[in-house]
Amino acid sequence: MTKPRVVYWFRTDLRLHDSPALKAALDLEPDVLWPIFTWDPYYVYRARGGTNRWQFLLDCQNDLSSSITKLNPKSKLFVLREAPQTLFPKLLKAWKVTHLVFEKDTDAYARQRDDVVAKAAKAAGVKVVIHSGRTLWDSDEIVAHHDGKPTMSMTQLLSAAKKVGQVPRPIAAPKSLPDPGDMPLDFEQHVPSSVPDVNAQTREKKDTAYKSIAGPKGDFAIETLEELGFPAATTPYRGGESIALKNLADIVKNEKYTATFEKPKTSPAQFEPQSTTLLSPFLHFGALSVREFYWRVQDVVEAYGKGASTPPASLTGQLIFRDMYFAAQAAVGAKFTQTAGNPYCRFIPWHLPSGRDSQTGLVTDKYTVDSDDAEKWFQRWKRGVTGFPWIDALMRQLLHTGWIHHLGRHSLACFLTRGGCYVDWERGAEVFEVHLLDHEPACNAGNWQWLSCTAFFSQYFRCYSPVSFGQKWDKNGDLIRKWVPELKNLDSKYIYEPWKAPIQDQKKAGVRVVGDGLGDQEQGTYPKPMFDFGKRRETCINAMKIAYGVGLYGDDERVLDGSWRKL
Ligand code: FAD
Repeated sequence: MTKPRVVYWFRTDLRLHDSPALKAALDLEPDVLWPIFTWDPYYVYRARGGTNRWQFLLDCQNDLSSSITKLNPKSKLFVLREAPQTLFPKLLKAWKVTHLVFEKDTDAYARQRDDVVAKAAKAAGVKVVIHSGRTLWDSDEIVAHHDGKPTMSMTQLLSAAKKVGQVPRPIAAPKSLPDPGDMPLDFEQHVPSSVPDVNAQTREKKDTAYKSIAGPKGDFAIETLEELGFPAATTPYRGGESIALKNLADIVKNEKYTATFEKPKTSPAQFEPQSTTLLSPFLHFGALSVREFYWRVQDVVEAYGKGASTPPASLTGQLIFRDMYFAAQAAVGAKFTQTAGNPYCRFIPWHLPSGRDSQTGLVTDKYTVDSDDAEKWFQRWKRGVTGFPWIDALMRQLLHTGWIHHLGRHSLACFLTRGGCYVDWERGAEVFEVHLLDHEPACNAGNWQWLSCTAFFSQYFRCYSPVSFGQKWDKNGDLIRKWVPELKNLDSKYIYEPWKAPIQDQKKAGVRVVGDGLGDQEQGTYPKPMFDFGKRRETCINAMKIAYGVGLYGDDERVLDGSWRKL
């Protein structure tokens, strides 16, 4: 019997530690094992990832590759530049692969892609081995124990999790890896027989294509930002399993911080260092195992005893929230990241960019605002020039570094949707999708739904003020001074509301509050606020009341499944 010839397909599991799928691959005792990563045009050309996230991904790939080489000098992370759906049918045959192994991914696009690949592999007689390892519990098992429905609260998640069992303890990283086999790229058997292969020009074209599958030098090298056509990244945060494990070790060394962590008490204004772990981008790319994170924290919590925090506020509580969104998406599927066709997301007639009412299609000035204004507000929000320094500082921090604190995300998301601009959450989620290092479709959409009160949370009368919420954490406005340098010399009395500063105070601080931030904002100036926040809050809350059917239907509220309940 031939010994297994295994392709291990790395995707969002760029690590060696605690990888159930990698362990399954090694348990096959393969003769050869190819650790590969395939370029996916869905991400390379279509998806909206910015340069900072690409750099983070490349860091993770490079770090993983050198860890692989440390275990076997003949091996590395081999990068193939072709869509997995078209590449695998050719590659599995050409390399005489017996097993294809990868970690389960329940993201809607990933599921579709993996189905196509798995079908092709099975058709070619290749065994497909898939293991869960991206979440604390297998999201599909959670859904199965929740009657096939999405988990819309932590209580629901935890009650399903109880039936699935305890979070598994992490698995150690392998101590050695098998050699890779040959990697012929002669896929000629797929060239239609009508194409005359004797033609030199055709052969040359094919050679170029093969070379491009293996990279410009034909050595399956990890791509670079230049090759991908990206400018240099601006984020100070670098990726990779080594950094992730070191950062986690540093965090849990501080037992008090780890055991008593309470998310609502961490400051969104704190930077260098930030008040939370900043491990989310590592979790996204799988450079850090979430189970490793969970158990390292849980062990500290148990040893700490009395005084330790508990979910939902605790550090493990944050990881459970992550699982809640993953399981919700696993149940709903592709529609989870949108309102249309998603039965769990409340429809709200947000201002449309076209200035048309979403129900009647007529040009509207409903809710006392021209939709052209809403479009302008969206553009100003997106660029960090709203004239509200707290909002602008957070947005500029996001644009520059790719990460902001959870409550900073709350402020931005509430302000854009039900607490200011009344713009559709999907538009905000798209902006986050471009810029977040940790962009995770399930978590991003789920949290935007939470903040816009379209799912998960419904207390729309609780809004974040762009003035007093920041002041609560950061009286002096240090976060603003860092990211909105135009205002760095302004007296703290005015730092959150610079439009209130008398002209002589503006002069003294070397700034003038004028303009709308769009077009050519003059140097040494900062834009005026784009609206009166107090009035907007009132308008938005009234609009939300209508959207929730409050008032229109007496004391009843229409709930998400279309039925009615007493308020
Ligand atoms: P910590 O507070 O240290 O928490 C530890 C880990 O728990 C995080 O790394 C993260 O994996 C997880 N976690 C914490 N809070 C949440 C949460 N509310 N939802 C899901 N997981 C959580 N998180 C993402 O990972 N990807 C996203 O695309 C994303 N988009 C968001 C969009 C909005 C509008 C909001 C309000 C939140 C979003 N979050 C997202 C959740 C949360 O803000 C980040 O996970 C967290 O701020 C990351 O920082 P940290 O690693 O320091 O978190």
